[in-house]
Amino acid sequence: MAVSFSANAKAEICRSLPQKKCCAVSQCFGVLLFCNSFSADGIKVITESQEFAQILPKLFKKAFGFSFDVQPGEDTVGKRSFQITDPAKLLLIMRSYGFDPQDTLSLHINLPVVEEDCCKQAFLRGAFLAGGSVTDPDKGYHLELSTTHHSVAKESCALVQEVMPFIPKTAARGGGRVLYLKQIEQIEDFLTYLGAHVAAMGIMEARLEKELNNKVNRRCNCDDANTSKVVEAAQEQLAAIRLLRKKGLFEQLPEKMQQAAIAREQNPESSLTELAAMMEPPITKPAMNNRLKKLMQAAKEK
Ligand SMILES: [Zn+2]
Repeated sequence: MAVSFSANAKAEICRSLPQKKCCAVSQCFGVLLFCNSFSADGIKVITESQEFAQILPKLFKKAFGFSFDVQPGEDTVGKRSFQITDPAKLLLIMRSYGFDPQDTLSLHINLPVVEEDCCKQAFLRGAFLAGGSVTDPDKGYHLELSTTHHSVAKESCALVQEVMPFIPKTAARGGGRVLYLKQIEQIEDFLTYLGAHVAAMGIMEARLEKELNNKVNRRCNCDDANTSKVVEAAQEQLAAIRLLRKKGLFEQLPEKMQQAAIAREQNPESSLTELAAMMEPPITKPAMNNRLKKLMQAAKEK
């Protein structure tokens, strides 16, 4: 199976582990609040990302000094499940985020944990690794972060707004909430912020291609509009000339106007500029326009 765009973005983020402990704690916080389950009863992180599975134990070790109680074997493919069930470990984790282990029904983002800019980025990287996905830009523009904790969605929006010039939208999904971005520039900026530069570049290329296509389409439509105007005007002129001939008035027209009329009859699709160049001697476009206008008037009057 081909590796998805989303999987590549995650692999890229996993290439660097947090240097500072504050960031490791914050990145774990992002992982926990956006993972499959995080409560006093246990922690469960399920991921299909091989790279995320590789860094996850190291990340928790750096933040808390211990790792998971249950973790998949090295050669596991597909979904990999990591669990912490030891009450002592759970207590320590809950306390380090300022939660009372007796009351973890409504978990939220404990702001001091994400106070520093470095930690804000680490938190959102963790959130994306555990609960995020981004659509291949060839198929559509959508990036999302999914959490089972309602207040976390709202607080994460506020957090994104602190570091980015936009706020994600939110929606309810399957008992939880999703934060999402639909605007191509925002997805590009957010991936850059997370450190997924290659993925961001992929989005940028898709954006440039889209802009180019739009420009070409606009230009084509514009050309069509001009062409149809020229054709319409020529049809009116030809109708006027036919009328003048039918009424036997054509030969009475001044020679210059006759010359203009014949040029139009012989070149129904030519522009004014082209017709003007056919006159003997050649005249300007406004002068040509003037002659054709006079022909139309003559046809109307008589
Ligand atoms: Zn930090």
